Amino acid sequence: MNKVFKGLEDKRETGDVWFDELKRTRDIGPAIVSKRYEEFNESTKSVHAGQYDDPTTNALGTPIFQCSTFMLNENTYQAIGEGRGRDEMIYTRYGNPSQWSVQEKLSSLENAESSIVFSSGMAAISSALLAMLDKGSHIVSSRDIYGGTYNFLYEDLDRYGMSVTFTSPTDIAEIEAAIQEDTKVLYFEGLTNPLLKIAPLEEIVALGKKYNLRVIIDNTFLTPYNIKPLDLGVDLVVNSATKYLNGHSDLVGGTVSGSRKLIDRIWPQMLKNGGSMDPHACFMLERSLKTFALRMRTHNANALEFATYLENHPKIKRVYYPGLASHDQHELAKSQLKGKYSGMISFEIEGGDEMAHLLLKKLHLPKEATSLGGVESLISLPYNTSQASLTKEQQREIGINDGLVRLSVGIEDIEDLITDFNQAIKQIF
Ligand SMILES: *Cc1c(COP(=O)(O)O)cnc(C)c1O
Repeated sequence: MNKVFKGLEDKRETGDVWFDELKRTRDIGPAIVSKRYEEFNESTKSVHAGQYDDPTTNALGTPIFQCSTFMLNENTYQAIGEGRGRDEMIYTRYGNPSQWSVQEKLSSLENAESSIVFSSGMAAISSALLAMLDKGSHIVSSRDIYGGTYNFLYEDLDRYGMSVTFTSPTDIAEIEAAIQEDTKVLYFEGLTNPLLKIAPLEEIVALGKKYNLRVIIDNTFLTPYNIKPLDLGVDLVVNSATKYLNGHSDLVGGTVSGSRKLIDRIWPQMLKNGGSMDPHACFMLERSLKTFALRMRTHNANALEFATYLENHPKIKRVYYPGLASHDQHELAKSQLKGKYSGMISFEIEGGDEMAHLLLKKLHLPKEATSLGGVESLISLPYNTSQASLTKEQQREIGINDGLVRLSVGIEDIEDLITDFNQAIKQIF
């Protein structure tokens, strides 16, 4: 049986002790000016937090600092010498005011001390994981995770002398049983693709505390508008900013947020992997985030209404949406997500994959594309997109049944989406 074996003693061998005992005080940030609007609500934070208004020109809004490098001075030389370059402007892969500005907005929205923006969600995820693991480390994760993350864990960890066990994301006993002597990280998604299973965060955090493990949550499907995992004791939260955070299907990016201590440990990994966010992309992301709360409110409301419509439709066999009473984990959804269930819906249509394909062709409003979280509705079939690398048998095992459709509900007027679905379904049956 499991025992609580991870004390500080074990950590001395891994070198972690240097890190944990480092006494240097660290400011939150880094930031040019720290303006987090912490006492305000979500829309106010979305609009104002992190924004840098230029005092020289009085220009309103963060300029795009489109430069690769910065003029050096005594401070920067000293920072380089002392290995604390994260708080100085030296070179854009290390840090840039456009990054710092959007990072402050994200930290405000996540209730985090510190954040880093990356050139993609996968850059954020791979850097965060590599920074938290050592040779010989083991990680417990789930079969229901993003394909890119699964491939990284399944194909690459082994090459670095690390290992992974995949469990169900909802079965806390199975997760606990998978924890080994060398386990360092529990890695799960807050809401999974495509069956919208909910990771029981409080129980996972309790396991992390019991075994002294770091808990990393990919919150892409939920976003900090719907739940702030750090508030529940999660150590690091990662997001693909490509999805809801940017929300306009015109940028690829990623984020990691957490304590200044842990983010300071991921930063050198980012420098080595090279996945920092370009200043222009930072500008786009910060601009998009101004409407973040506004968009999320509409995504949430539209999806709940659309899921209810689908559930009452005679040609729809089953609907997966955490806000419906029919969802396997509806009670957990209510207590953990507090009525904010996100904009993702999956459903099974009568007639299987053949009818599902026809449906996609007859719809006018939702675009047939992979990805999610944009202002426009996007629709796809998991069996030939996000879960295409699995065999039919593996697909059935995790619950991808014939005729399963995934819908990212946009911010269009919901009555227009319903009218569009009605006409499409009428044509195919
Ligand atoms: C899209 C996605 C990612 C990967 O993000 P990219 O920005 O495409 O690199 C990771 N996790 C989840 C849950 C995603 O949906």
